[in-house]
Amino acid sequence: MSPSEIMKMAEVEIFRGVDYGSDRKPIEGGLLDPRLGPPNKKCGNCATYGANYKDCPGHFGYLALALPVYNVGYMGTVVDILKCICKSCSGVLLKEEMRVEHLRRMRNPMLGPLKKTELMKMVVKKCNGLAANNRPVECSKCGYLNGSVKKATGMVAIIHDRSKFGGVMDELRPENLLIMNIPVPPTVIRPSVLVDDSWTNENDITERLKNIVQANARLRHDLTQDLPPAYAGGFKHSWDALQVEVAQ
Ligand SMILES: [Zn+2]
Ligand SMILES: [Zn+2]
Repeated sequence: MSPSEIMKMAEVEIFRGVDYGSDRKPIEGGLLDPRLGPPNKKCGNCATYGANYKDCPGHFGYLALALPVYNVGYMGTVVDILKCICKSCSGVLLKEEMRVEHLRRMRNPMLGPLKKTELMKMVVKKCNGLAANNRPVECSKCGYLNGSVKKATGMVAIIHDRSKFGGVMDELRPENLLIMNIPVPPTVIRPSVLVDDSWTNENDITERLKNIVQANARLRHDLTQDLPPAYAGGFKHSWDALQVEVAQ
């Protein structure tokens, strides 16, 4: 799902890492927001359409990340795309004639998906060919020397020559390979179980989402600290932490 599809499907933005207030009522903007549907029998009716616990089908929310993170399922594709793109001017690392020729073939409506994947692999190979023996690839448009791109081992990250200079603001497209919004499922599929009058037991999904909301809030806070670019590492740490939470 694209970020805008996730938003369209949702009734409410979830941004608070708490579920109940001191009055034991679900907090608005929290993970058990009454607009997602009643989280259990005692919480009254759904705040979206007014149905009771039994009749409300549940509604989705969404969580807007302060900065995008990798979708672990698309890491390979993102690495391939980065291999083909100049880290300075964002142009494709192919000679212009070759780029036009490949684009023409790729847009051929008669070409099946398998052939397209093959063609894509060939383009990645060509763009990466020079970097294979650790030689940088020179961009034919701006002359920038592009080093190798690889998946980092043991963590959810991609290493390339710009990433070392904290070049974290590189614009990546297509952006849908990254995660910018996370759907928050209705409370019916992750009920808040009443243990007794003053205690509830939260579902694993709710707890997991809570960790993401809290990591996201820390990153948002760090971003507003207005640090000079040289201290970009300051929020990089909380960004990495958010990546780890989302990847779980
Ligand atoms: Zn409802
Ligand atoms: Zn370039």
